Amino acid sequence: MSDVRDNIRIVRETIAEAALRTGRKPSDVRFMAVTKTVDDDRIMEAIDCGVDIIGENYVQEARRKIDKMGKSVEWHLIGYLQSNKAKYAVRLFDMIHSVDRMSLARELDRRARAVDRPVKILIEVNLSGETTKSGAPREDVPGFIGELSMLDHLSIQGLMTMAPWFDDPEDVRPFFRMLRELRDEIARANFPRVEMSELSMGMTADYEVAVEEGATIVRIGRKIFGERL
Ligand SMILES: *Cc1c(COP(=O)(O)O)cnc(C)c1O
Repeated sequence: MSDVRDNIRIVRETIAEAALRTGRKPSDVRFMAVTKTVDDDRIMEAIDCGVDIIGENYVQEARRKIDKMGKSVEWHLIGYLQSNKAKYAVRLFDMIHSVDRMSLARELDRRARAVDRPVKILIEVNLSGETTKSGAPREDVPGFIGELSMLDHLSIQGLMTMAPWFDDPEDVRPFFRMLRELRDEIARANFPRVEMSELSMGMTADYEVAVEEGATIVRIGRKIFGERL
């Protein structure tokens, strides 16, 4: 068994156990293989093992890979998106996890209207207040989503966060919980076209805790492919 295949099996089992521990169905949690800097052969191997969501950070890199590997899987953008790349992003990606400002949202809406297909997005939330991180500040998110709900070519599916780094994954738990509570708060507001079914949270270091706190998509790179070069 190759290491990629083996690692994917372990990730699946770990997700299923964490889901069951907290009374969730394993099938309610999907995992994305995060493939920035990963070679094509290893991505192809992951797809062969049944991975059905690939996450990429950069539009250019993703465009080359999608041209080569095709759309038999979903491709999600998880990295920072410049507004001037919105045009490509709406054509390439099945979901964009990193919408954190009005100017970008407007441009995505405009470009999605031009291709006559709504674009699925998540709102990236910065929960820790670290200024080096992207994401909308927590307190701005309900108002931001209220405004976004007016843009009829955006399909808002939920929230995404990058948790701060800690040695002990237990320390991240309050941040994941905060994201879930924010999701529930926004869902109660019943904005039009705002779904709030997805919580994209948890990476190699902390995905188990994220699943226990309600993640519906976990984003895993190093645990599957090893350390990035
Ligand atoms: C790189 C990256 C990941 C994956 O991180 P790992 O620690 O390799 O699992 C997840 N989410 C985002 C936004 C990333 O940039």
